[in-house]
Amino acid sequence: MYDIVVVGAGTAGLSAAIYGVRAGKSVLVLEGTSYGGQIINTPEIENYPAIKKTSGFEFATDLFNQAKDLGAKVKYEKVVSISLKGNIKKVQTDKETYDAKAVILATGAKNRPLGLPNEKKLVGSGVSYCATCDGMFYRGKAVAVNGGGNTAIEDATFLANVASKVYVIHRRDEFRAEEAVVVALKKKDNVEFVLNSNIVEIKEESFAVSGVVVEDKNTHEKRELAVDGLFVAIGQVPDNNAFADVVELDKAGYIVAGEDCKTKTEGIFAAGDGRTKEVRQLVTAAGDGAVSGIAAAKYCEAL
Ligand code: NAP
Repeated sequence: MYDIVVVGAGTAGLSAAIYGVRAGKSVLVLEGTSYGGQIINTPEIENYPAIKKTSGFEFATDLFNQAKDLGAKVKYEKVVSISLKGNIKKVQTDKETYDAKAVILATGAKNRPLGLPNEKKLVGSGVSYCATCDGMFYRGKAVAVNGGGNTAIEDATFLANVASKVYVIHRRDEFRAEEAVVVALKKKDNVEFVLNSNIVEIKEESFAVSGVVVEDKNTHEKRELAVDGLFVAIGQVPDNNAFADVVELDKAGYIVAGEDCKTKTEGIFAAGDGRTKEVRQLVTAAGDGAVSGIAAAKYCEAL
């Protein structure tokens, strides 16, 4: 039996693990894919207090090592369900069942797909959701980035240093991204903004992306942009259906929890981007880690 099982090894989950072990609790972190969560794919972080500049990979790796060095155990197993037996939480993974006094759900969110017919099949052949992972394959080539949030704008800035041409396709003419990153992108002379436009088709040749067709929302005019790569950065969607029996989910699938990270079930907490919240930032994910880690430790002590 563990005191605390944390589901998800992103910023919120690893921060929760740090607070849990430092409160003297046994902590198991379960992660379905790889540590780091969304931030591991961010080329540059410049808005985390006291860290002027770092990469998402460096940030996530430091955080991961910090949690492990302090005593958190990490296992790569996907959690498929959680059930209750009195006060005990039974966490079922694709391999085993773990008993815990408290559970922290820090499941974050996954990349939202565009939903175009050949998008899935072209992943790895021109379609990507991660500029830092795949950008280097497009050295000297033309690429498109779709989206107007921080991820899209930061990805486009990163790609502008590698690719010959970067089209930034966004469905509005205003950006959701922070002003500072938009200003930095606008300084790049190989970037073209295609605004008020949606991608309506991904063109392929020999099983690889050869272009995208964009449609202007106002004029309905369509044009084809010849690109070898399409980076989709249109936000995230939560993935919490496995926990629907023990927590309440809102219409969009986020776990209903307030700033205290408490869910409808005592001893089950939700932290980070996967819960209902106003501001989804690295620093708020880390903050949720602290809140939920301390609350879970206190819950264990009161049992
Ligand atoms: P986001 O802020 O939710 O932005 C998603 C973008 O995609 C928006 O511009 C949205 O357009 C567009 N979009 C959504 N659905 C679409 C669709 N079906 N078709 C076309 N466009 C669509 O997502 P994000 O950029 O991935 O960022 C997620 C969170 O992480 C944000 O809070 C962000 O600030 C944070 N983040 C922080 C950092 C950092 O701190 N360095 C880095 C990356 C991300 P509309 O604007 O029209 O809605």
